[in-house]
Amino acid sequence: MNPLPFELGPIRPVDEAESLLIRTTRGCPWNRCEFCVNYKDMKFSMRPLEEIKHDIAAAAQYYGDRTFETCFLQDGDSFLMKTAELVELLTFLKQAFPGLKRISSYGRAQTMIRKSDREMQAICQAGLNKLYCGMESGSDKVLKKVNKGVTAADISTSGRRAKDAGMSISEFIILGLGGQELWEEHARETAGVLNEINPHFIRVLTIGIKPGSGLLRQMETGKYTLQTEKNIIEEQRLLIENLNGITSHYANHHAVDLLMEVRGRFPGDKPHMLNIIDRYLSLPEEDRIHFTLGKRLGIYQRLDEMNSAHLRKQVAAQLLKIRASYPDRMDEVFHYLRARIV
Ligand code: SF4
Repeated sequence: MNPLPFELGPIRPVDEAESLLIRTTRGCPWNRCEFCVNYKDMKFSMRPLEEIKHDIAAAAQYYGDRTFETCFLQDGDSFLMKTAELVELLTFLKQAFPGLKRISSYGRAQTMIRKSDREMQAICQAGLNKLYCGMESGSDKVLKKVNKGVTAADISTSGRRAKDAGMSISEFIILGLGGQELWEEHARETAGVLNEINPHFIRVLTIGIKPGSGLLRQMETGKYTLQTEKNIIEEQRLLIENLNGITSHYANHHAVDLLMEVRGRFPGDKPHMLNIIDRYLSLPEEDRIHFTLGKRLGIYQRLDEMNSAHLRKQVAAQLLKIRASYPDRMDEVFHYLRARIV
């Protein structure tokens, strides 16, 4: 139950933990992506402008002297609002919370593509200056397979338009989304679109198949085959290798990612990121399984932690137990553990 005197949506990006949350829409207007169950049980609706303003005023009164520098607009698609209304809302929000330096929202390419350059500039000037874009893939085949409802061309155009308007862009990529069937084009074509956009941030997440998702049904009917942990890291290597001519900051930044230390700024840190990946890929198989389990259990956070005798012992004990119950099924175990944290 929400104890606050204003509405809250169920989801916010990891980076918005300290932000003021203001809900502009409920749920997702598309709600059909095969990997996503975030808003499955929620009917989409737009909130009337006056209702959102009422919430902003209630939040200002509730928080009193507390100063917020960042605000995130929930839920799935603030850009569905008419531009004039969104601008009015942002102006009102900044008046109510004058300390705000950053206002952010999810930026769905399907909706942003319908706004003109001028509209995007007006929205940015009114204060919406950061977008989290669920690009997921730059491959049309993968986007179609997961029913994303958008093309790679639209993702590229909308991302560049938002950036040209002055917004800071984070593009989110799902490693493993193409499965064994499409992993190579997923990596290569995603890199191609990212090279076109040159977003400020690239954030990768690793696939976890959730109960009730369309991708689980595809898996059960043999249309989608999960990659192993090693294959997903090989895919990431191909992605990074093909990212060229950009200045983006790149990061594995979610607990579901295996190699959290693969992060840095292009182009300077590219060799370093590839080196970390190569270090994992060149581990003897037994060590690779050991590290992967340690990370999936939350015992290890980084490859270097394998040097700790204390942590090594803990992981080895768990590995022994799991192998006794699930001999030769470590990839299934890894996927089960991964799916629990996405
Ligand atoms: S991934 Fe985004 S666009 Fe797709 S259903 Fe989920 S919230 Fe909606």
